[in-house]
Amino acid sequence: MTTPEDAASAIDPQGEAETGLWAPPLAAAAPRGLCTDCGISRTADAKRCGAACQFIAPDYPALEAAVHGRARDPDRPDEVHFGPFRRMLRAGLKTPRPGAQWTGIASRLAERLLETGIVDAVLTMAPDPQDRWRPVPVIVTDPARIADCRGMKMGYAPLLALLEPARERGYRRLAIVGIPCQVYALRALEAELGFERLYVIGTPCSDNTTTERFHEFLALLSERPETITYLEFRADYQVELRFEDGSAREIPFLQLPISKLPGDFFPLTCRTCVDYTNVLADVTVGYMGGEGRQWLLVRNERGEELVDLLGEEVALEAPGTGGKRKGSVAGFIKNTERAAGGLPLRSMPDWLRPLVGWLMPRIGPRGLEFARARLEMKASETVLHLRRQAPARMKNMVPDHVWRLVAPYGLEPEPGERRGTEDERPGSGSGSGSGP
Ligand SMILES: Cc1cc2nc3c(=O)[nH]c(=O)nc-3n(C[C@H](O)[C@H](O)[C@H](O)COP(=O)(O)OP(=O)(O)OC[C@H]3O[C@@H](n4cnc5c(N)ncnc54)[C@H](O)[C@@H]3O)c2cc1C
Ligand code: SF4
Ligand code: SF4
Repeated sequence: MTTPEDAASAIDPQGEAETGLWAPPLAAAAPRGLCTDCGISRTADAKRCGAACQFIAPDYPALEAAVHGRARDPDRPDEVHFGPFRRMLRAGLKTPRPGAQWTGIASRLAERLLETGIVDAVLTMAPDPQDRWRPVPVIVTDPARIADCRGMKMGYAPLLALLEPARERGYRRLAIVGIPCQVYALRALEAELGFERLYVIGTPCSDNTTTERFHEFLALLSERPETITYLEFRADYQVELRFEDGSAREIPFLQLPISKLPGDFFPLTCRTCVDYTNVLADVTVGYMGGEGRQWLLVRNERGEELVDLLGEEVALEAPGTGGKRKGSVAGFIKNTERAAGGLPLRSMPDWLRPLVGWLMPRIGPRGLEFARARLEMKASETVLHLRRQAPARMKNMVPDHVWRLVAPYGLEPEPGERRGTEDERPGSGSGSGSGP
């Protein structure tokens, strides 16, 4: 497990030549509207945000075709939900890595790429030495230093601002471990970046917020929030917490103090982003469809190459599925409609919570059905929150697949909310005009 003290030696602003891990000084972010500071606004040509940003006018079908050779196919099972993929797997490293969020597949892939010399450098996040939850973008060249980057940090940080220092150092073959809003911008600009080879290891991401706000949440979960070292929303409807003294605690979702969080706890970006499963990565490493194990979506040939690098280290099997999602998703949408309209969430009586908390892992959606449910919930949040808070964005920001996911629940585009005709595609000059 990486402690903040270990990480202090990890963050070297001077240069990675000696330490194998480097956090270069970065330019300031340019002011933007909907923005998760992926780093592009800090590069020499900050205007590229207009073409690169997931929050302006994303074109998923075009980028899916550019990266994977084809856009997602509604006739293939699960592609509307999860994007294009060749194989989905339930997976785990046979020897889980200490400090990893799950078993450490994401960071082990990066480590293997460096060990084998396939890439010159990896761009990823290390923990801030003063705050283990705060992500700090780093360039790693020594495979042994990838261990310092394991585990989930909460918040977003300018990963793509590292592209220029990496290029200046002469690195030509790179790997990037990133969340979806970072990977979208990376792929949108990939052709002009001029790297010889790029490997993209993606994780799903949802319900992110700033690191500062995340600390408010931790403070509601424990009297000693500074001792919490690990948090995960597991697919069995429990939040798992681990503490510095080695103890652990599980809290059923239903007993979380969600109603105590302020309405703006999650920024609008993270309530409305449209790519939960990181569809433009070569391989997505998550857990949602894994029923307690990890969940891999191998999306293209390069993703296959990555999984092959793990050889016998990884156990792979077909993912399972169970339960029915429709009722849970419909209930979630009702509550989201109330929340988006500023009304209090309709909550269950306290006496019923333990019973429902016990029942949910047993009769609720499981495995792939759980993942599908989460995708549909997220899509409904996108529509309902944007409709309320930034309606002018909808036409350009909400792709077709989101409308497909919410259609079974009666959520239909209202006039002007959907890009319909060819002359309304991004770049045609007929957009909403809501730039960054
Ligand atoms: C905010 C957030 C929300 C997530 N929500 C889901 C979800 O709903 N469903 C799901 O299936 N998976 C989700 N994930 C991914 C999941 O938590 C694991 O990261 C993933 O399953 C990989 O586990 P691992 O053991 O292989 O990772 P590890 O081997 O521990 O490696 C994790 C990698 O992710 C990088 N990383 C950690 N935090 C960040 C960050 N904030 N920004 C960018 N990179 C980061 C690390 O630097 C490291 O390279 C989320 C991740 C984040 C950061
Ligand atoms: S591309 Fe989007 S998320 Fe990235 S810096 Fe620009 S406005 Fe922000
Ligand atoms: S929830 Fe979406 S917008 Fe927010 S950090 Fe994650 S991918 Fe980016």
